[in-house]
Amino acid sequence: MPGVTAAACDTGVGIDLQNLRGIGVSPGIVVGRAYVVEDRSRAYVRRRSIQRSRAEREAERFERAREASITELNAVYARASSEMGEDAAKIFLFHVAALSDKVLIKQIADKITEELVTADYAVWYVFRDLGQRLASQGGEAMSAKVTDLNDLSARLLDVLAGAKQTEMASLDQPTIIVARDLTPSQAAGFDREMVLGFAIDLGGPTSHTAIVARALGLPAVVGCRQLTEAVSDGDLIAIDGRAGTVIVDPDEAMLDDFRVRLEADRARRSALAEITALPAETEDGEAVEIVGNIEFPDEVGQVLELGGTGVGLYRTEFLFLTSDHDPSEEEQFEAYSRCVELLDGRELTIRTMDLGADKQTQAKSDEPERNPFLGLRSIRYCLQNEPMFKTQLRAILRASALGPVKVMFPLITSVPEFRHAKTILLDVMEDLADEGVEFDREIRVGMMVEVPSAAMMAGAFAREVDFFSIGTNDLVQYTLAVDRTNERVANLYQPCHPAVVKLVRDVVRAAKRAGIPVSCCGEAAAEPGFATVLMGLGVRTLSASPTSLPGLKRLVRGVSMAQCERIAKRVVQFDSEHEAASFVRDRVRNLVPEAFEGRDGLD
Ligand code: PEP
Ligand code: MG
Repeated sequence: MPGVTAAACDTGVGIDLQNLRGIGVSPGIVVGRAYVVEDRSRAYVRRRSIQRSRAEREAERFERAREASITELNAVYARASSEMGEDAAKIFLFHVAALSDKVLIKQIADKITEELVTADYAVWYVFRDLGQRLASQGGEAMSAKVTDLNDLSARLLDVLAGAKQTEMASLDQPTIIVARDLTPSQAAGFDREMVLGFAIDLGGPTSHTAIVARALGLPAVVGCRQLTEAVSDGDLIAIDGRAGTVIVDPDEAMLDDFRVRLEADRARRSALAEITALPAETEDGEAVEIVGNIEFPDEVGQVLELGGTGVGLYRTEFLFLTSDHDPSEEEQFEAYSRCVELLDGRELTIRTMDLGADKQTQAKSDEPERNPFLGLRSIRYCLQNEPMFKTQLRAILRASALGPVKVMFPLITSVPEFRHAKTILLDVMEDLADEGVEFDREIRVGMMVEVPSAAMMAGAFAREVDFFSIGTNDLVQYTLAVDRTNERVANLYQPCHPAVVKLVRDVVRAAKRAGIPVSCCGEAAAEPGFATVLMGLGVRTLSASPTSLPGLKRLVRGVSMAQCERIAKRVVQFDSEHEAASFVRDRVRNLVPEAFEGRDGLD
């Protein structure tokens, strides 16, 4: 079992056995030691125990953070004194003096080594304690000192958290990452040799962090809520990324149970492997095209190995998220042409960058928006950053000279918006033609249907676009007003909601009337129940993450299109999403019970 350490797992810390339930978002079973990433968005720091053997290292971590903070403060002092004058800058010398105070340093170091707590907690506790004592003396001068202490504590905590982030990138042993939250780019940057999987307190099933976990094949559980409160660095934890369970400090019987689960998982995978080469055809002989969603060019190989016949969605923003600069035209061209080459004549649908919301570049994360999912994301961001957009379109068009490429715009909400994006594309085509650069002049230009306004206006869009791809991850979120990244409302996130199904039905009808293809590339396209509904509504191309493709093919082969159509017809007649969802689940479970294996009744 990867990452399983000795069966007798004495973590040496007095943590109670914990059995937590989250949302399984990326299948796989791993057991390993935890690496906890502190959360700096909270006003307090949780008391976290450490093993005795770690105490020295933890004290050194504090010492390094203290020294780094002093260096930072001396630099701030030098800058401030030249810009604002010696008097105004004096405050930073007080900060340096406080951080050099022997009593304070000893208190923090002792707390770490005697009480066996993390450096973060010791810093927070000692500064807060000192602040409270000063505040109780009253007076303006004391209150200013308390503010300074809070400032210092925050600086030290930031340095400690930053150092931990850096450490996370260079782990030297197999580890399970535990955090309150992880951004998609943090997850994408994991060292795949060392990170066995992750479990986080926040997050929903279609958050981009969950999508990255699937892309990397990393077992992951999100929405565990209190996990970071129960785990300390070095604790043994076991996670089941399909069932959504996390066990902290498992005993021998629990480890045995995980070994059994791992065996069952392996058996399931090898049974599925047998159908990857079989046709994706329903029992009554209707062909369904099964293609893959990718975030990185390397995933193309996996798509093909797992039976996909092309790429239905390439999330190109991950090129931007995994780089510290905006990728150049050449860098982008290289990535796109690599996909074309690997696909060897099969279709590649390149979606223009969908940045914003939960996918921020390093530079942009400095300007937080109040409602980022309703903010400057996706095509809106591209239309406001035309040079960047044009660079990407040039790279896509150049790659289209090498093989079948389609281009797709995300988050389109109105016809003029689509026209605007297309006009820019036509401009870029003209430029390339003038320069004598080769590209596919007949390139098909489509759009994602992922907001209700686009679905409702599908008839008008269908006259202008070459294809639709329904993005249920966002369509569900925007139709039901349920944040896809929020575990607290994950129970309300229901693709089988009759309102969503009606929107999908209308899009498919509009596409049929106009004679253009329609596919679905949201995560729900691989859910057994919803995939059945999609087929019943007339969707004949399903695009999903590579690891979901064999299961999806098994589903397609286990149903008839007539059954799918009956199920789809019935779903829209329910008033309640719960009735609709349980009707679909029960019917599909009867038809293809294997599609629900290993989910511990979560469906
Ligand atoms: C979607 O919204 O369904 C989709 C496929 O796009 P993303 O998940 O990247 O937002
Ligand atoms: Mg989307």
